[in-house]
Amino acid sequence: MTTKPAAAAARATVYGYPRQGRNRELKKAIEGYWKGRVTADALEATAAGLRGANWQQLAEAGVHEVPTGDFSYYDHVLDTTVMVGAIPERHRAAVGTDALDGYFAMARGTQDVAPLEMTKWFDTNYHYLVPELGPDTVFAADSSKQVTELKEALTLGLSARPVLVGPVTYLLLAKPAPGVAADFDPLTLLDRLLPVYAEVLADLRAAGAEWAQLDEPALVQDRTRAELDATERAYRYLGALTDRPKLLVASYFDRLGDALPVLAKAPVEGLAVDFTEAAAANLDALAAVGGLPGKRLVAGVVNGRNIWVNDLEKSLAVLGTLLGLADRVDVAASCSLLHVPLDATAERDIAPQIVRWLAFARQKTDEIVTLANGLARGTGAIAAELSANRAHLASRAGSPITVDPAVRARTAAVTEADARRSQPYAERTAAQRAHLGLPLLPTTTIGSFPQTTEVRTARSDLRAGRIDTAGYEERIRGEIREVISFQEKAGLDVLVHGEAERNDMVQYFAEQLTGYLATQHGWVQSYGTRYVRPPILAGDISRPAPMTVRWTTYAQSLTDRPVKGMLTGPVTMLAWSFVRDDQPLADTARQVALALRDEVNDLEAAGTSVIQVDEPALRETLPLRTADRPVYLGWATEAFRLTTGGVRPATQIHTHMCYAEFGDIVEAIDDLDADVISLEAARSHMQVARELAAHGYPREAGPGVYDIHSPRVPSAEEATALLRTGLQALPAERLWVNPDCGLKTRGWPETRASLENLVAAARTIRGEL
Ligand code: GLN
Ligand code: ZN
Repeated sequence: MTTKPAAAAARATVYGYPRQGRNRELKKAIEGYWKGRVTADALEATAAGLRGANWQQLAEAGVHEVPTGDFSYYDHVLDTTVMVGAIPERHRAAVGTDALDGYFAMARGTQDVAPLEMTKWFDTNYHYLVPELGPDTVFAADSSKQVTELKEALTLGLSARPVLVGPVTYLLLAKPAPGVAADFDPLTLLDRLLPVYAEVLADLRAAGAEWAQLDEPALVQDRTRAELDATERAYRYLGALTDRPKLLVASYFDRLGDALPVLAKAPVEGLAVDFTEAAAANLDALAAVGGLPGKRLVAGVVNGRNIWVNDLEKSLAVLGTLLGLADRVDVAASCSLLHVPLDATAERDIAPQIVRWLAFARQKTDEIVTLANGLARGTGAIAAELSANRAHLASRAGSPITVDPAVRARTAAVTEADARRSQPYAERTAAQRAHLGLPLLPTTTIGSFPQTTEVRTARSDLRAGRIDTAGYEERIRGEIREVISFQEKAGLDVLVHGEAERNDMVQYFAEQLTGYLATQHGWVQSYGTRYVRPPILAGDISRPAPMTVRWTTYAQSLTDRPVKGMLTGPVTMLAWSFVRDDQPLADTARQVALALRDEVNDLEAAGTSVIQVDEPALRETLPLRTADRPVYLGWATEAFRLTTGGVRPATQIHTHMCYAEFGDIVEAIDDLDADVISLEAARSHMQVARELAAHGYPREAGPGVYDIHSPRVPSAEEATALLRTGLQALPAERLWVNPDCGLKTRGWPETRASLENLVAAARTIRGEL
């Protein structure tokens, strides 16, 4: 394939870069500041050093225009809240006293003041702090962070483009402030917000910005006509400003749909569009509006969310098509590189030939630069890169890690019936009641028990070789003995082994499944200074040996009460890993489901009568566009049923989800065909029970009665009152008694006291029935 050189030389750019530094220096500096060990000046110096190093690295790699303002001490949406002066009332004093401490108070709360709510940034695993707005919100521009960072980059002699959260997305991500009517629509504040953006843009222009990027990812979700009209109005206003940089409106994570014609017509100088997963839809929509004559198009052709090497020829083909559609086409990743780790070459434990299949932020940067060069100078100029790329892709496609014929044969042979229990729910409950002999309002927990320092020390001792496997396992058995004996004494009905052996609910399984890769340095920001290292679903998945059976059976050997087996479900395994880009997600889910099915069946064969398959991620991976949701929910629920469909009617399948709002997926929850579901509810005062009832949910449910996010011990009376509330919505035959999830993050004293109170509450109510 050859590409003719573009008329104007294509430029390489990125929208954002990992913030933490090679050795997570930023995390250390910020946490040191919180503990009083690092001064504000030292923190600022570390931050400026990291920003400078990132820009230099980008520039040396050949990126023509570096992003500024994407850096953050905690979160870029919180930075935007500061930029527009929307500091919540309760934080104003702290912010006024010390801007930095006030900033962290908004992010994390203090002894006296609650933080802003945190929620997921679209369908990524990054979390942002939700702006709180109301009719009385007064915006005021504070461009200092944006201007400072722009000047830093310009001082280094770099061409730089400030990146801001756009005004429409900012308002669409906001929620009504406490005390404001729940139906308050933050978008009604648009006309008040725009002059603030105008001021910031003018300041950036004065500081030397030629371009500014306004990120509007909210426009890839379904938007009402009114929201699209607001978008149109916003960009007509900003476009009409005379004292401003050129504007690049960026979208990512999905297709723009009806928002594309709105932006295409807007008086802005450029659009940045995602041409990875949504490539076809965005290409068609762009062609349908006649392209972007006179505008700059930044084409996100390198996937900013996966960790796989790009198919350069495929990207070049997309870029070739785009050349006819805009005045100038530049090359970028589909979104900020914040969502991928920094550098694949740091992975020393992964075989070098496999490292070449991977592209983290640094490698993606190189791909962007290569593509821009290819676009500007013709493919001949990047012949060496193209041939190396072809070799990497071929090595991956042909590797036995990628394709395991046995797994393929097994997945291909799956039938409808495999994903169905042998008896419908209504019939198997009788078998389960008879088999388990549980009281009304049975008590249980969600799986983990406090992860003590001893457990964590044992794990690091094992890793460091200070103890051997036998020594480690003996310590885990000791934990299990303690957990079982406590639960028996406390009088819980369905016990758990406590998950002491698990470092993390996904990683633990990933390490034992063939086809998964683990990274040593693949950290990605989850929120604030919390970074996670998602494992990589690299190839066809299989389970060489049982993963949890011996721990569960050991626990069961210590007690006559049923011990619940505990697994992470297939959807959550996908959601909290990096997924494959070479087969549909549904196929990967099915492979993981079959591996987990073997575990479920082995648990049952070993005498486990209750098995919980956690799916906390079922809702968070819902596609951004509602039109895509039925297909997703179809394969996701099928994967769960495939995992659990092989057990006898008398074996009880539980599932668990960590949230109180699930009205939009309650049908899908029913489709899981689980016997019992536990949900987080303590904070919402059993709202979930009412919601389940309102949707006619026919199965057993355990809304949490102990808020595990707080060290506070709920009294037996309090738990009793919550159960009474629950009973108003669900009949006693279908109500379970359990805490919210996450006991592993709590200490033993409050766990003990709370669970004892919870059992007392269940007994009180049973006595009244
Ligand atoms: N079984 C897990 C636990 O109790 C569930 C964790 C979760 O809900 N995220 O820790
Ligand atoms: Zn949970």
